[in-house]
Amino acid sequence: MAKPLIAANWKMHKTVDEAVRFAQTVKITGDNILDKDIVIAPPFTALYPMAGVLKNSRIHLSAQNLHWAEKGAYTGEVSAQMLVDAGCEYAIIGHSERRAFFGETDSTINKKIVRAIANGLNPVVCIGETLEDRDQERTFEVLSHQITKGLNNLASDDIRCCIIAYEPVWAIGTGKTATAQQAEEVHRFIRQLLADTAGETVGNGVRIIYGGSVTPDNISGLMAQPNINGALVGGASLEIESFAKIMQY
Ligand code: PEP
Repeated sequence: MAKPLIAANWKMHKTVDEAVRFAQTVKITGDNILDKDIVIAPPFTALYPMAGVLKNSRIHLSAQNLHWAEKGAYTGEVSAQMLVDAGCEYAIIGHSERRAFFGETDSTINKKIVRAIANGLNPVVCIGETLEDRDQERTFEVLSHQITKGLNNLASDDIRCCIIAYEPVWAIGTGKTATAQQAEEVHRFIRQLLADTAGETVGNGVRIIYGGSVTPDNISGLMAQPNINGALVGGASLEIESFAKIMQY
């Protein structure tokens, strides 16, 4: 079974100074955690300074986004190559906030995934249904569409590099977590879909992590489910105490 992955998504929080101080503290705990991969996604500005602190530690860095082009006239954007240069090994792609506020579509997400993999970054591909989708019993249809379009034309080996983050939109930042059973039902569906698309080995090997109001109180129940391979943590990753508890669940 794949090693669990616990990732922090800091969104638009923390100055360089705050991020560096967090990194100095978290690496003391993180370096003793051998049975999980720990990843932090700070804002772009904190990546390079944090990479200096986390060099030779067991904690990995992720971007929260990237541009799909190799380089060029894209004012305000950051390329995959720049992220690798700054010390990143992962990139969150297609977060629901980027889909909702910045017009990201499954097609642009697909291009970003391709670019990330071409540069050696592991994409953390976010998918999830809205409350309306769930109420209309469209959850599986929506997720199936997001996965099929998002991973379109990727070779099986490329899909193997991806981490899928199931983040029900209604659970993000709301304090409403999916129950462990609700999440497991969806993760099982996603795994089957990956197996149907890319073969049994890829389906079984890809890490499918859960995000949406994960806290120190609910992490163990979620992680006890056979198809939940980790967590993407927003709010509860901003404080060292709660993130340390989640890392050590
Ligand atoms: C997220 O933004 O990816 C997330 C899961 O946020 P929260 O944990 O705050 O719900």
